Amino acid sequence: MMGMAQQCPSCGNTTENLIKVDTGKKVALGLTYDEVCGSCYEALPSKISQGMKLRAEEEAKQKNKIALWKGRVELIKQARNFMKSRAWSEAAITYEKYIKVLELIYELEPNGLTPEVFSNDTRSKELTLVVTVYWDLLRIYDQSTRTHDRMVNASKKLQAFGPYSGIYPDIVRKAESFVRGAKNPAPIREFLKSANAGRGGCFIATAAFDHRMAPEVVSLRSFRDETLARTRWGRTLIFCYYRVSPPIARSINRLPFTKPAVRAILRAFLRILPKYS
Ligand SMILES: [Zn+2]
Repeated sequence: MMGMAQQCPSCGNTTENLIKVDTGKKVALGLTYDEVCGSCYEALPSKISQGMKLRAEEEAKQKNKIALWKGRVELIKQARNFMKSRAWSEAAITYEKYIKVLELIYELEPNGLTPEVFSNDTRSKELTLVVTVYWDLLRIYDQSTRTHDRMVNASKKLQAFGPYSGIYPDIVRKAESFVRGAKNPAPIREFLKSANAGRGGCFIATAAFDHRMAPEVVSLRSFRDETLARTRWGRTLIFCYYRVSPPIARSINRLPFTKPAVRAILRAFLRILPKYS
């Protein structure tokens, strides 16, 4: 080996002596080569301990996430018990903790939870849980003018998450009755307003049939709320629909001659859904 200049596969420096790395170290570092230069060889132990440290940190982070994920059910239970015993502020604090846990698990900014977080996730049942949490928070924060901002936020979240949950129609009905006795009805009215707009939110159908109460539009809405919103693939479909349909609806309105064709397609679609036709 003497006298022959070789390149170290680790640092790329030229050296006359490459030193063999033993198999244990090779595996520990995931090296793809057998020999390194003298200075790289000396650096190996610290590299190994650094790698182990990083791996241990990553493992601890994952373990912490799993613990948080498991613990969140307990938080919901606690919060609901606080609700039952009318300990409103404790319930709110515990629910907010639950939201915080989701933000940590999904590595989101504060208040960064959106329905999209759950769209490609086997945990999409969580959506319904989140809706019940924001519904409870909305009612708790209604009790004081000091929590008005939090109430507005809960209303916004409810508007965002509601349509993707099977319990949406129930929550809307509850909100309709709750708003009558509410201390701060405005944020609840905002939620109801968006729910009503969403009811007309079969944008394409509304554009094609010119009216959001047209029987076909009503049927398609029931299909969305009663069937699609209750399954995971259905919710994914709703996500996509809300993304693509407003521009399509605008085109249909701009090009009214397309309406009969779109109506025919939607009617044909409804015929394969016997429950709704
Ligand atoms: Zn080297």
